[in-house]
Amino acid sequence: MSENEPTSGWRTGRFCAEKARLQDAFLHAMRELMSLQTQQTQALIDGDPDFSRFDGLIHLAGEQRDLAKYALISHIETHACWEGAEEHGTHQSREGKADG
Ligand SMILES: [Zn+2]
Repeated sequence: MSENEPTSGWRTGRFCAEKARLQDAFLHAMRELMSLQTQQTQALIDGDPDFSRFDGLIHLAGEQRDLAKYALISHIETHACWEGAEEHGTHQSREGKADG
């Protein structure tokens, strides 16, 4: 009854390794940002006069988070691999943009 089903096909279970990777990167970047914000909050609570030293790090972490977010969104839109997403036959990949 069962044919030789392709297990790696994203159409079957909508599992996409690239999406999972991008999602993971986005979550990681979010945690990174939250961690820095928590540290800054704690520094402020502790009366650390140098609490603003986190500003630059938080700014950078925010940029990283946005990059990760846009990469994920862009991939989902082009690959249509998000759960419940409509399929549209185009999946052009535009990679190598955020490197460097
Ligand atoms: Zn995908």
